[in-house]
Amino acid sequence: MNLTLSAEESAFRDEVRAFLDAHLSPELRRAQKLTTTVFSEFEISRAWHKILAEKGWTVPYWPVEHGGTGWDVTQRYIYFSESARACAPFISPIGISMVGPVVIHYGTPAQREYFLPRIISGADYWCQGFSEPGSGSDLASLKLRAVRDGDDYVLNGSKIWTTHAHFANWMIALVRSADTPKPQQGISCLMVAMDSPGISVRPINTIGGDHEVNQVFFDDVRVPVANRMGAEGEGWSVAKYLLEFERGGGMAASGLRRSFAGVLARAREGGRADDPDVALGIAEVGVDIDTFEMMELRTMSSLTSGGNPGAMASVLKLRASQLQQAISELALQVEGEGALRWEKRRPLHEVAQGAEEDALLPVMSRYLNNRANTIFGGSSEVQRTVIAKAMLGL
Ligand SMILES: Cc1cc2nc3c(=O)[nH]c(=O)nc-3n(C[C@H](O)[C@H](O)[C@H](O)COP(=O)(O)OP(=O)(O)OC[C@H]3O[C@@H](n4cnc5c(N)ncnc54)[C@H](O)[C@@H]3O)c2cc1C
Repeated sequence: MNLTLSAEESAFRDEVRAFLDAHLSPELRRAQKLTTTVFSEFEISRAWHKILAEKGWTVPYWPVEHGGTGWDVTQRYIYFSESARACAPFISPIGISMVGPVVIHYGTPAQREYFLPRIISGADYWCQGFSEPGSGSDLASLKLRAVRDGDDYVLNGSKIWTTHAHFANWMIALVRSADTPKPQQGISCLMVAMDSPGISVRPINTIGGDHEVNQVFFDDVRVPVANRMGAEGEGWSVAKYLLEFERGGGMAASGLRRSFAGVLARAREGGRADDPDVALGIAEVGVDIDTFEMMELRTMSSLTSGGNPGAMASVLKLRASQLQQAISELALQVEGEGALRWEKRRPLHEVAQGAEEDALLPVMSRYLNNRANTIFGGSSEVQRTVIAKAMLGL
């Protein structure tokens, strides 16, 4: 899809391209191409975060007074599209896109002063401790207990499916600080230092062959009351605010387009693009990405005036996850039995040898990993319920 850019916008695009050409090494681009998980691998994500921080480009969404770039929606679109086209790693969204907006909205001046610069620079790496065994879609039933003891809360229980908890030094956690008739009212939000005594992180290896998620155990973990985000019992509102950004605060279309372009190139190179089934799949996914991108741009433009995505976040999350799965299915169709090559060693960029292995090794793992897209961040069924209630009035 081509949008007509003004002279200033074209100049901005050239600036972004020149920056990417100068700073994005071939090694980082290749490592990103060989990433099979939703988040870029920790090392490449951190390396790219550092480079972007030096340029001042890690938090384009934030208000300028907190370190944002002041870009309008077109500039953000250009930046994300160009970064995706160049195969730049994703920097982990948890700090920059979820915790940051929460700290800006709910944090005390001291919390803002401490956390925001460290998120911008990448000094801190965050994980999100919301889900628990038995409390995923029904998040309000969470049980991790926080008992007040002087100036601390004492935490006992566990979190599960915690992405990159094994790398993170901070967790934004929802805890049960009171038993209330309405379970939502007894939830608080705490910032937990991952090196606190009593925390242990156990890996969960996924069907795609990656160690991306974990179960995190809390055994008498002390967290200062000063690390509470919002008032006691206000954690549910904080969580809802964060989830809107998790589900719809980004530019997913550019990533989808990059994945799709890779599959398309392989289909053309291998002569598969003329196969009627493959051609139909390419046409369908291509049109769906265009439609999705328009919808996302419209939502982003409403954010420029300082709003949050609201229920549109659910529409975007639902469609982006379906499209990512459709692209990985198309990749299987294009590669045929070549996609059955299975490599369990990680990271793939240190294992694959030659262009053909680079193309084939991630395909099956990525397909399997993408099964989770319609589950995490709220499953598709849950998103449909939000849409039905908030947008259709059902
Ligand atoms: C790869 C991956 C990474 C994740 N990363 C994180 C993370 O970093 N931090 C974090 O806190 N969590 C994370 N999660 C957890 C994720 O948010 C939950 O898995 C998700 O919310 C679903 O919860 P559940 O697993 O308990 O499944 P359940 O809630 O038990 O759902 C099981 C099935 O029932 C359906 N269902 C449930 N309730 C309803 C309903 N009311 N109406 C209709 N259908 C329903 C669901 O759609 C699903 O199909 C991650 C999950 C995955 C798979």
